Amino acid sequence: MKKTEVVIIGGGPGGAASAINLAKRGIQSVIIEKETFPRFHIGESMTGECGEAVRQLGLSAEMAKIPKTIKHGVTVYGQGGKGSFWLPVMKRDENGELVKNSTWQVKRSDFDRIVLDKAVQDGAELLRGKATKVLQREDGTVYGVEAKLDDGTTETIEADIVLDASGIATFLSTVGVASNKERGKYDRQIAIYAHVKGAKRDEQDNTLIFYEKKNHWAWFIPIDEDTVSIGVVTPSDYYRDSNEEMRDFYLREMHKINPALTERVPDVELVEEVRATTNYSYHVRNFTGKGFLCVGDAHRFIDPIFSFGLHFALKEACLAADAIEAHLRGGAGRDLENPFKAYEDYCELGMDTIQEVLDCFWSSPISFAFFAHSRYNEDFIDIFAGRIYQEEPSRGLQAVRKVNAKMARLAEEQPELLSHVSS
Ligand SMILES: Cc1cc2nc3c(=O)[nH]c(=O)nc-3n(C[C@H](O)[C@H](O)[C@H](O)COP(=O)(O)OP(=O)(O)OC[C@H]3O[C@@H](n4cnc5c(N)ncnc54)[C@H](O)[C@@H]3O)c2cc1C
Repeated sequence: MKKTEVVIIGGGPGGAASAINLAKRGIQSVIIEKETFPRFHIGESMTGECGEAVRQLGLSAEMAKIPKTIKHGVTVYGQGGKGSFWLPVMKRDENGELVKNSTWQVKRSDFDRIVLDKAVQDGAELLRGKATKVLQREDGTVYGVEAKLDDGTTETIEADIVLDASGIATFLSTVGVASNKERGKYDRQIAIYAHVKGAKRDEQDNTLIFYEKKNHWAWFIPIDEDTVSIGVVTPSDYYRDSNEEMRDFYLREMHKINPALTERVPDVELVEEVRATTNYSYHVRNFTGKGFLCVGDAHRFIDPIFSFGLHFALKEACLAADAIEAHLRGGAGRDLENPFKAYEDYCELGMDTIQEVLDCFWSSPISFAFFAHSRYNEDFIDIFAGRIYQEEPSRGLQAVRKVNAKMARLAEEQPELLSHVSS
């Protein structure tokens, strides 16, 4: 049996960054990771604040060594390639003014490897294997996990805190410690993706989004000198009804979704197998309690369209380390029924903001484009960068809320009109 202060399930960006942040605070951790890195993972485009979080983790030197591209912003192309809008990556300077910034687009196999390596370098112990069980006292307090290691043995790891960073596997929810995994609003979709060579790229390597109609879109994310990640996202029924092989469907949709994408992929070569993710939109509402907390995808994922997944994983890894430090050092809240409730509420504040923004985009894309591109441009630059934890909503966010309320009323009063609008 091992003993540590924090046992972390999952060595992806959320888990590895948590270990780095804990080590900075002098807190020991053991990471359990079931896959051997480097391994493929989807999710390559970072927000501006996510790039800042990477720098704060002390990864700048390692980032310089891996293939990647510089992202200056995102362009969203409307239906038929028309009505595009652009949001630059910008940060706030010491006077609160928006100034130029940039972030990265990465191959996740490389990026995830350097984050995990840094965690180990900083003192985290890495166990290769799969967490299978939770240790829980009679009063419900979590005090460790059991893991099946790659060498076939079983290890018990006792810890003051269990931090779940298991991503879409949502380990603590699945074993019944955190609450149930509820379906998210964008659940009935499929994302099909691969890496390609030979795509026509713009002068700058930015993230491009191509809108076709509600819940039907594609991404184009250059990730190194030659390679572009391209994904198509469609309703699951639409894919099923096509009766096509996944690869054929992917290539056909890539050429059909939007002319602004078609012209960029006249003749592409696949350099990765075509993969798919379904059921990626979910919400675990109670993801903290006595002896445990979750980070990143382990508790919620909304929709990939505006690239917030890595941002949440890295931001929450930092917030979780603060909450754990306060807890272990006997800080306020230690004896509460749920010592990590404040952490949970803060994480939800950011995720709820993005949920509202995405709801507005999908229900009313034209209003959204007008707000983002013109009326509340600065507020949307902040949102897209990941500055989303303000208690006081910006004017842009207030406008989003008004549209959402109007659309919700319409859905109730005139559902037939709404189904016409969305198609
Ligand atoms: C289609 C799609 C496109 C996306 N595009 C973007 C994008 O462009 N930009 C962006 O920022 N985000 C994107 N995301 C989201 C992004 O991929 C995730 O939000 C991000 O990887 C979350 O990091 P994480 O550390 O929480 O989880 P993960 O990166 O999934 O890491 C979890 C780790 O836990 C391990 N694990 C799981 N269960 C166990 C267990 N029982 N024991 C041991 N180990 C375990 C897994 O092997 C994995 O390595 C996208 C998501 C999807 C579905």
